[in-house]
Amino acid sequence: MDDKRKVCIIGAGPCGTSALFHFDQISDSSTEVVCYEKSDRWLGLWNLTWMTGTDEYGEPCHGGMYKHLWSNGPKEGLEYPDYTFTDHFGKSVPSFLPRPVIRDYLEGRLVMKSKSDLKQFIKWNTSVRYVRYNKQSDDFTVTTEDLKTGHTSDSNFTHVIVAVGIFNSPEKPYFDGIETFPGRIIHSHDFRDATQFKGQRVLVVGAKYSAEDMALQCMKFGAKSIVTSYRSSPMNYKWPIGIEERPLVKKIIGKVVHFLDGSSSEFDSIILSTGYKYKFPFMETSLRLTSSSTLYPASLYKGSLWLQGGNRKLFYMGVQHQFFTFTMFDAEGLWICRYITDTLPNKLKSCEEMKKEAQKWVQRCNSLKDIHEQIDFQADFIKDLSDETEYSSDVPKANTFFHKWDNDKRANIVTYRDQQFKSLYSGTESAPCSKPWFQNFDDTIGAFV
Ligand code: FAD
Ligand code: NAP
Repeated sequence: MDDKRKVCIIGAGPCGTSALFHFDQISDSSTEVVCYEKSDRWLGLWNLTWMTGTDEYGEPCHGGMYKHLWSNGPKEGLEYPDYTFTDHFGKSVPSFLPRPVIRDYLEGRLVMKSKSDLKQFIKWNTSVRYVRYNKQSDDFTVTTEDLKTGHTSDSNFTHVIVAVGIFNSPEKPYFDGIETFPGRIIHSHDFRDATQFKGQRVLVVGAKYSAEDMALQCMKFGAKSIVTSYRSSPMNYKWPIGIEERPLVKKIIGKVVHFLDGSSSEFDSIILSTGYKYKFPFMETSLRLTSSSTLYPASLYKGSLWLQGGNRKLFYMGVQHQFFTFTMFDAEGLWICRYITDTLPNKLKSCEEMKKEAQKWVQRCNSLKDIHEQIDFQADFIKDLSDETEYSSDVPKANTFFHKWDNDKRANIVTYRDQQFKSLYSGTESAPCSKPWFQNFDDTIGAFV
């Protein structure tokens, strides 16, 4: 391999495209970038698919978003400093937006702010099958499959960025007798449309964001009653009539579900909202990140540089539990881009120094006491990346939005999406919602803009 850097990005979701965006901004002629995307669309989860299980190529379906999904955080908390919602829509829009509107905004930035057509760097319908590090040549061999032709090929790269997301391999716990349940059992990854649960008694297992939204969506679209079942602790929101929380499922006998508190009820459907596994099956074992959901996976310097192999030329993006999303991915993308193109201002640390620094973050992460400390932790993480790259000193200040957001949810879980926020960058106050979220059944772009 000559002196040129050759960078492989795996996945063209919000993370992969952020990395692509920054390489394009830097336009370093000695760096060539190729992005492999297994679907024919960019922006990953923000595309809606009707499919579940496997896709048209027999690949595991990637997306787990559904009809009428609205952002569960205020748009002001995920707004790009260099491309505001007002820049995109030309006017003020509400703080909580449905999926197609967010997708439109994300695409707008990629198209409007890039120097070149980023799509030219993406190899579509191409799934990465294996990545191995070659010690002798100090590079990576990436094996890909063209899903349309079935043709596989090997290419070598100096650097690899893994950006395939962390919400695509569902965690499916077993409960005694679950196979005797006569109704429908799905994981929230396969949930596409809440109207299918109209009139039903629904059990939702899990106690985080999916469980919360499954319960609210089912209620909004006419389910008869919903019980959510928690493993560690209840969500403890002031739920509307018709939603209640119970401890974990103990056993299931036919339609009847028994809970650990001794109670039991009949259900028509079960939705497992039990999260996802970190799964990177295409990575050679020594390069493979294994973790459970955390704000700071171990073995990653600056939350992204893999320290266990690959001679510090392998990166993971977006592998943290997320309050901040697009701006955090963007700050990571810029840092990685600067690292690879050797344009960071400070002298590179030794591997030992990097490991020590990463360890400090992991220790702090493990000591966080509540959601507000977690939010501030993530803001500090972004500040740390920004300090080296001058990404933005304002982005971490969005922590105040997330503190308010959690307080709003505690005050009223049904109306938190009706609240308004003010942009950090444009100063624009968000527009009031035309209808409260709970009564708004129109998630089209036309209804918003
Ligand atoms: P993804 O969006 O998952 O994109 C990864 C890409 O990699 C995909 O295009 C996929 O096709 C591709 N890929 C995967 N494997 C391969 C392979 N082997 N080879 C080639 N390509 C591959 N965030 C918010 O900010 N607000 C929300 O309201 C919100 N709602 C969410 C709702 C749900 C149900 C879920 C699951 C997540 C939600 N998120 C939300 C978080 C979401 O993870 C991020 O917004 C964002 O999509 C993560 O981007 P990503 O690029 O890391 O991953
Ligand atoms: P998650 O945050 O990882 O939560 C998983 C939940 O499942 C936790 O409550 C966990 O319990 C529980 N769980 C895991 N294994 C279990 C088991 N064996 N038995 C019982 N319970 C188990 O995953 P998520 O809620 O799916 O959220 C994933 C992402 O999707 C988040 O980024 C979220 O913001 C996003 N999302 C957004 C929306 C939206 O409205 N825009 C909707 C859905 C999801 P413990 O608490 O005990 O760990």
